[in-house]
Amino acid sequence: MGRRAAGTVVPVPLPPIASPGRPLDRPAVERYARHVLLPHVGKAGQERLSGAKVRVVGAGGLGSPALMYLAAAGVGALGAVDADIVETSNLQRQVIHSDADVGRLKTESAVEAVARVNPSVTVVRHDVRLDSSNALEVLRDYDVVLDGTDNFPTRYLLNDACVLLGKPHVWGSIYRFDGQVSVWWAEHGPCYRCVFPSPPPPGAVPSCAEGGVLGVLCAAIGSVQATETVKLLLGVGEPLVGRLLVHDALAMTWDTLTVRKDPDCPVCGSSPSITALVDYDEFCGVPGSSHEGASFGSDVAGISAPELAVELSSDAPPLLVDVRGPDEREIAAIPGAVAIHLDEFRDGSAFGHDELAARDRRIVLMCKVGGRSSEAARLAQAAGYTEVVNLDGGVLAWVREVDPTQPVY
Ligand SMILES: [Zn+2]
Repeated sequence: MGRRAAGTVVPVPLPPIASPGRPLDRPAVERYARHVLLPHVGKAGQERLSGAKVRVVGAGGLGSPALMYLAAAGVGALGAVDADIVETSNLQRQVIHSDADVGRLKTESAVEAVARVNPSVTVVRHDVRLDSSNALEVLRDYDVVLDGTDNFPTRYLLNDACVLLGKPHVWGSIYRFDGQVSVWWAEHGPCYRCVFPSPPPPGAVPSCAEGGVLGVLCAAIGSVQATETVKLLLGVGEPLVGRLLVHDALAMTWDTLTVRKDPDCPVCGSSPSITALVDYDEFCGVPGSSHEGASFGSDVAGISAPELAVELSSDAPPLLVDVRGPDEREIAAIPGAVAIHLDEFRDGSAFGHDELAARDRRIVLMCKVGGRSSEAARLAQAAGYTEVVNLDGGVLAWVREVDPTQPVY
């Protein structure tokens, strides 16, 4: 990251986007005393924060620190959007939820946590999955949209909605030990589509649910997003507009790359082709659903976990192939599965294994939820295998419907 000499005057290139709230009373002055003391904030800045409205999309890994710090900072109105419930595997990083919240709606648990941090903050819950039918309505009344989502359809949806509404989109992304942050704001710089014009093919980029993520990385990236949000609300400093912040937690480096507006961008360019929200599942190649376990538009047949259990105990069981890595297989597995990694299907070496010598043998491919095995199944079909099926819902469906003694991850 670029360094600034101590005492250098920080330019203020953008005006504050929050309208001032009511004057601070004495308890508020005491609560926010360390802000009131700050140059660029002061009483007037704190009053502006109390009048600010921030929509946080996703009450998960990035949304947890963002919601808690924005609440502590006195941002007057927060909106929490999430349709998910708290799962045990969330607790390693989603610190706004606690052990007792497992099974509850994430927004419910987040609202209670925010009230504990700062009861003067109003939180509006939206227990919905954002899509093109509701996004503009849900986001319209807010000054800034903080993106804590973890899937491509919602990212493109939020981007396009923010461009259409003229709002800044504070985006963050995490995977394993790496994180990225930027502020997309079409009026002043590039939007997400300018820099990432098309999504990766479905299944090509593993999600945190498949590849893992260092829990504490959420604190680093989510709090940078909260910092950028506060700067935008106050109109201080240089926001990450036109810059992509790239963090590598293993090397402990923070780099900023310059990113530019694409004059031909389909949504924020000079003659945009996208003038209303579109179907983002379709755009990202996830027909009908953003569920990562969907068999992405392939013609591979599926089999349910109970059906597989019957076939495996028959006289002529199919060959079951697990395309996950060893760390995942150690958590939950199906007995008798042969381990051949998805990468081996991609480079073709899978087809040299003795188990896969007969191209007319019935083969069931499996992974965690069915996305990666669907890709392996398509590659096997392309290599001439005629009896390939995919385990719908992956090993998680097996744990749910056949062997609940194994952990869910
Ligand atoms: Zn653009």
